[in-house]
Amino acid sequence: MSQTLFISDLHLSEDTTAIEQGLYRFLEREAHTSRLFLLGDIFEAWIGDDDTSDLALRFAEAMTSVADRGTEIYFTRGNRDFLMGCDYLERFGGQLLDDITVISVCDQPTVIMHGDLLCSDDTDYLQFRALVHNPDWQRDVLSKPLAERRALAKQLRTMSSEASSNKAEDIMDVNASTVAATMSQYGVQRLIHGHTHRPARHPLDAGERIVLGDWTDMGWCLRERDNQLLLEQFPT
Ligand code: MN
Repeated sequence: MSQTLFISDLHLSEDTTAIEQGLYRFLEREAHTSRLFLLGDIFEAWIGDDDTSDLALRFAEAMTSVADRGTEIYFTRGNRDFLMGCDYLERFGGQLLDDITVISVCDQPTVIMHGDLLCSDDTDYLQFRALVHNPDWQRDVLSKPLAERRALAKQLRTMSSEASSNKAEDIMDVNASTVAATMSQYGVQRLIHGHTHRPARHPLDAGERIVLGDWTDMGWCLRERDNQLLLEQFPT
């Protein structure tokens, strides 16, 4: 029995022990998984692949067990863990995906992405995103000592939560035209993403948009098995 699993938005940090343990139990239960897609914001912050935090070590160890069982692991960066790189993923054979990637799901080409790019009404965020995705900015940040990067990550989180609390609900959600344009550009009838914390399956003229949920005391996953897709919620 082989299956594909998609999860996102666990926002793991040193303060989310219960969610982290829930993830490891989930992965134990789902031992018969051929592909695991981590679609961004798995971590609340990522300060570089050389991070020596206990969380980074524990997560790599858990993923090594997953990979040892024969599961392929793929990672899409979110707006929190946008500095995730190949060096860390290589510790457990994980592969870094482009921000927008087309894969086969239920024998159909499907776009998978974190989802922040779909929230195109939030122009302030897109401007910020362009800055932090600039290779020069990233090189400069990654050259700083870990302690300094940790402080910067904290500052960015505070800025981001202050910005979100001042924004209208609808600009935090996806823009319908951007969804349609993305699906048409990549020639797909299915789009899977996270980020908005609004788990749902949306039928569209052009096919379907599936939104993963964030993890709290309940976790979410999208499961592909026997050519069927199921969006599931479970206690962590
Ligand atoms: Mn996000």
